[in-house]
Amino acid sequence: MALIVQKYGGTSVGSVERIQAVAAKVKGFRDRGDDVVVVVSAMSGETNRLIGLAKEIQRKPLAREMDVLVSTGEQVTIALLCMALDSIGCPARSFTGSQVRIVTDSAHTKARIQSIDDERMRSELNAGRVVVVAGFQGIDELGNITTLGRGGSDTTAVALAAALKADECQIYTDVDGVYTTDPRVVEGARRLSTITFEEMLEMASLGSKVLQIRSVEFAGKYNVPLRVLSSFEDGPGTLITTEEDNVEKPIISGIAFNRDEAKLSILGVPDQPGVASQILGPVGDANIEVDMIVQNIAQQDNTTDFTFTVHRNDYDQAEAILQRVAGELKAREVVGDNKIAKVSIVGVGMRSHAGVATKMFQTLAHESINIQLISTSEIKISVIIAEKYLELAVRSLHSAFELDAVDVVSES
Ligand code: ADP
Ligand code: ASP
Ligand code: MG
Repeated sequence: MALIVQKYGGTSVGSVERIQAVAAKVKGFRDRGDDVVVVVSAMSGETNRLIGLAKEIQRKPLAREMDVLVSTGEQVTIALLCMALDSIGCPARSFTGSQVRIVTDSAHTKARIQSIDDERMRSELNAGRVVVVAGFQGIDELGNITTLGRGGSDTTAVALAAALKADECQIYTDVDGVYTTDPRVVEGARRLSTITFEEMLEMASLGSKVLQIRSVEFAGKYNVPLRVLSSFEDGPGTLITTEEDNVEKPIISGIAFNRDEAKLSILGVPDQPGVASQILGPVGDANIEVDMIVQNIAQQDNTTDFTFTVHRNDYDQAEAILQRVAGELKAREVVGDNKIAKVSIVGVGMRSHAGVATKMFQTLAHESINIQLISTSEIKISVIIAEKYLELAVRSLHSAFELDAVDVVSES
């Protein structure tokens, strides 16, 4: 008998029929004698619908009220799932984030979990019931409703698994595991049977939304056995492992990409100490996160160019700030581009292999794709390219690094 935390995402609970299918799956585990805690997302499209309503009223909706609003989506699914479980003879009780005391900080719309009280859940499990918890939501110390950022139900599930010391945390979704790249973009993408926490963390932070970044951080930190599986078909899914346990040791494990970034450059800035902080200080003060940063070497007139990327939603605000700073610094001009994309190759195998970057750059050159910016870490290389080449870049890198699925040929 095991204690399992299962999370079902939006598509998996997207209709009454699908909620009934989830109930049947959960009952299967109960019938085998497992204790089950289920975390559910809102029905697919619901969180976006609610955000849309808020934006009809306020361009930048009040963050506290936004959390009160978007947390309702998950409250619907916990109740419906418990009804579905009850109707097939499987006792269950639903709980909101506040009822199981998922306490977070007060950073509305991107709150971090600080503590969880497992007592209530344990007594329900001991009474033989399935515990169904609303994902994505918590409360702060003052009792305000908070949410954990988009995709946050993954983090709820991992955090509950850590608090309950569950035997496994299973993330059920609309694909049957973590793939070498988004299977909706590259047909030849292949399911990985394992991926390391480190690689998964890079993949998630570089744009693969199959798991929320914080859920992977949490699982790594608290050693939660984490698996991604399909809600719709049986299979082993993908196990997130530590490096030592990883049986697949390719140089590159996966390719991540995102279209959410925009690039800004300030040209002809006097090359003197303090310039970087004068440029990025006001951007940070406006709560705009900066991703890649590149400063060129000084030119003959002792000026330099400074380029960085921000989230596309922050582009207009960052550009306005930069225009002001350019005036103060007597820089030549500000230029920007919000039709860019970031493509990253990720793999712990990079540590022990030379020539990975060269191969990446050659592959892109062969397709005549211009690289605008490059950034590297120990286990990833990211490039910024024009958005229109994104799919071509991902596909050609996927083939060049031999990640494409191979047809299984029978040996007889
Ligand atoms: P859920 O609603 O279940 O949380 P998400 O839409 O958040 O599901 O995440 C699953 C989606 O992640 C898949 O449908 C797939 O398109 C996308 N995805 C992106 N990169 C990957 C990857 N490397 N492997 C698997 N899925 C990926
Ligand atoms: N419903 C929330 C979202 O759409 C949380 C989640 O699905 O994980 O982002
Ligand atoms: Mg998700």
